[in-house]
Amino acid sequence: MLRVFQGILIGLCLLLTACSGSDSGQTAGTTTGTSQQTFKWKMVTTWPANYPVFQEAAEKFAADIKIMSQGRLDIHVYAGGELVPPLQVFDAVSQGTVEMGHGSPYYWAGKVPEAQFFSSVPFGMTAKGMNAWIYHGGGLELWKEVYAPFNVIPMPMGNTGVQMGGWFNKKIDSLEDIKGLRMRIPGLGGKVFKRAGGNPVLLPGSEVYTALERGTIDATEWVAPFHDMRLGLNRAAKYYYFPGWHEPGTVFELMVNSQAWAELPDDLQLMVETTAAAVSEWIYAQMEFNNHVALQELRSKQNIEILEFPPEVLAELKRLTKVTLDDEASNDAKFKRVYDAYTAFSESYKDWSKTSDEAYQRALGE
Ligand code: CA
Repeated sequence: MLRVFQGILIGLCLLLTACSGSDSGQTAGTTTGTSQQTFKWKMVTTWPANYPVFQEAAEKFAADIKIMSQGRLDIHVYAGGELVPPLQVFDAVSQGTVEMGHGSPYYWAGKVPEAQFFSSVPFGMTAKGMNAWIYHGGGLELWKEVYAPFNVIPMPMGNTGVQMGGWFNKKIDSLEDIKGLRMRIPGLGGKVFKRAGGNPVLLPGSEVYTALERGTIDATEWVAPFHDMRLGLNRAAKYYYFPGWHEPGTVFELMVNSQAWAELPDDLQLMVETTAAAVSEWIYAQMEFNNHVALQELRSKQNIEILEFPPEVLAELKRLTKVTLDDEASNDAKFKRVYDAYTAFSESYKDWSKTSDEAYQRALGE
């Protein structure tokens, strides 16, 4: 009985507080009234429905925010193709058809070539360097400038970690073995591969397994052991090469339509930014965890050889990466601006990276 009475008292207090809050909000005409507003938003992603880690992360982001905002920011997440095709996510956010999107900046290379630097660059920085640049080295400011003409506000939300070099049906002992090789490898990596004499092929993820299994392509990259095994690639090729020189730590992005963003009260904006950073870490940790387990599983399979690219092949691909980027920059001032900023940061970061992580890896001697 006493508990019931206490409950009623608390209930009354809450009611009074809520009323007084609402009153003061109305008289002041400021944020208190506004902050009670409920926002029903849509988020579209570039990932297939139920896709492990990636689509899961977008759904976790929405679910966490709904709890933290007590339902004031209610985001419905649509997988790629459910509301808009995966490669139209940027346009949908830009045009305000939806308020949010989740993907990776290099998907928009056709429209915004310089966006690729915020994703991953062949022989570029890994997750640690990218985080340092984006959050504290001027990267995010530059990224926002790049997207501003499209009414899109970006923020990082995920990193794949270092990817694998890919699945091959033929051994790569020298550069000669790359000549004429048909490989599914998109983006800047594909351009470098072409300069090395390879034949890059564009294929959506859904067609990769069949193409490799039937010999339509000789090789493919995808992500890393966990996602590659989910696609069945270990049943379609014999050689699994590392490292993923073309994608050393691909950044995922949360995109927000700028008008929609401006309508959010400060506390919900902060909730979005904080949750995006938390989900970013969640994805990175998931990738490192799942890939280490999947690699162990692959090691136990007799029919697969896990091999490192020969040093001279990597050295030549690295040289050709600079040629490719310089060439792109010479034709595109916007590309050059971001390329210069990226290079300046990665050059300045290199000394610390070598002195800390790389030296430590050598000290481990494993
Ligand atoms: Ca990849």
